[in-house]
Amino acid sequence: MANSNIHQQQQQLHFLLIPLMSQSHIIPLTDFAKLLALRGVDVTIITTPLNAIRYRPIIDRAKSLNLKIQLAALEFPNREAGLPECCENMDSLTSLDQGHSFLEANEMIKAPLEKLMQELVPRPSCIVSTNALVWTNEVAQKFKIPRYVFHTISCFTIVCTLKISENKMHESVASDTDSFLVPDMPHKIEFKRSQLPEWLGEKSDDKKHIMNKMKDTEHLARGVLVNSCEEMEPGYFEEYKKQRSRVWAIGPTLLCNKENLDKYDRGNKSCIDEYQCLKWLDSMKPCSVIYACFGSLSHIPSPQLIQFGLGLEASNRPFIWIIRKNDHSAETETWLEVNKFEERVKGRGLIIRGWAPQVLILSHPSVGGFFTHCGWNSTLEGVCAGVPMITLPLFGEQIFNEKFVVDVLKVGVRIGLMSEKLATSEQVKDAIEELIDGEEAGERRERAKEVAELAKKAVEEGGSSHTNITMFIQDVMHATSPSQ
Ligand code: UDP
Repeated sequence: MANSNIHQQQQQLHFLLIPLMSQSHIIPLTDFAKLLALRGVDVTIITTPLNAIRYRPIIDRAKSLNLKIQLAALEFPNREAGLPECCENMDSLTSLDQGHSFLEANEMIKAPLEKLMQELVPRPSCIVSTNALVWTNEVAQKFKIPRYVFHTISCFTIVCTLKISENKMHESVASDTDSFLVPDMPHKIEFKRSQLPEWLGEKSDDKKHIMNKMKDTEHLARGVLVNSCEEMEPGYFEEYKKQRSRVWAIGPTLLCNKENLDKYDRGNKSCIDEYQCLKWLDSMKPCSVIYACFGSLSHIPSPQLIQFGLGLEASNRPFIWIIRKNDHSAETETWLEVNKFEERVKGRGLIIRGWAPQVLILSHPSVGGFFTHCGWNSTLEGVCAGVPMITLPLFGEQIFNEKFVVDVLKVGVRIGLMSEKLATSEQVKDAIEELIDGEEAGERRERAKEVAELAKKAVEEGGSSHTNITMFIQDVMHATSPSQ
């Protein structure tokens, strides 16, 4: 009887998920929505008209499995915020300097969101929103429901940031290029001041202000969800728990995608047909292909792209190279054409101009290495596929993920920081050689497989992340029960 009451109460819950309109937030929150809906609760994901077009197929597939999941599209005020036409997702920004206006535009959906919340049936029981959306805290307060923060970064990054800002070791080094050790960490983690993201540096008051606001508002939230699993980040998860009483590691959420179609159709329409892509991969030897992709936000200049191309060619190995739509300039295309690049690498080099089915590619047995910018989602996708990585972070928290991949998990070969200096074709070629054939290559591959196994176990029934989702749902039930 008690069990059936709990079941009934759980079935009446309605989770309102609000992502920052960026691929690295919408993708994992959509996966999390599916994981919640699999437990029998109602889920609504807030989105915008153009993002709805991209994500509708995923939601329709979930609905066809009788999951109670829906998208609610609110008009996105891109014009009012001074953003480009049709820009409803951070991947459509023409420059990352527009990031601040983009955050403002996200906040402008507050009033229509509140109107929608009055109409939704059943009434939302809680808000789960990404950390950047500090204003959702006020909305939750207004509707007297709890808000939970959904972190799209790792516990390692959270703990590292905390230790650096508390101990201010970076302020005690003589120059930007001197290294300092992050204190009280389970592993030896070293940074140079020049490598730190702007919000930790001395200059950027604006960014520091935004980050402080996020940190303060996080403390007002009832709890925190991290897209990671406890086993993957031992020591760091426990450390974060010392700061917050309700933290649940509930990932990697991407592992809910079991069918090829779910791995293929994620976040955007792919620029390569699923079967064409699989056919190409099937024709390659196991663990031989290098997959090179730098996320959804990067703006990589043509000279850097050319070095990537030359490095991949010089490696003499099969590769898939993604050139993002925004990076696809006339200069790069002319270089490719004049040098007959695609002819030179015919049979072993595949260029995808635009969106790639990253998870489908990474999970194919012929992929032997992931050349990545270390966004947290990409990092998790590499880890879950058991594929060792070549790391070349660009900015922000990517540098923390790079340290995590290379120094903690020990499944990566480091090139450096892309914004510090151009990565040369020679460096790319050497890193590929080290990854595939170097002295430690075998051990690295084994470790990558072991970590992937840990992640898989965590999301299975009885695993830590699976149990943490149960605990999170129970917490929402507790917080919203009439006796509270
Ligand atoms: N992604 C993809 N195809 C692409 C580029 C990116 O599927 O061609 C996905 C990738 O799998 C990941 C997300 O977009 O899930 C990018 O998030 P991440 O945190 O790695 O980096 P960001 O885009 O924020 O730099």
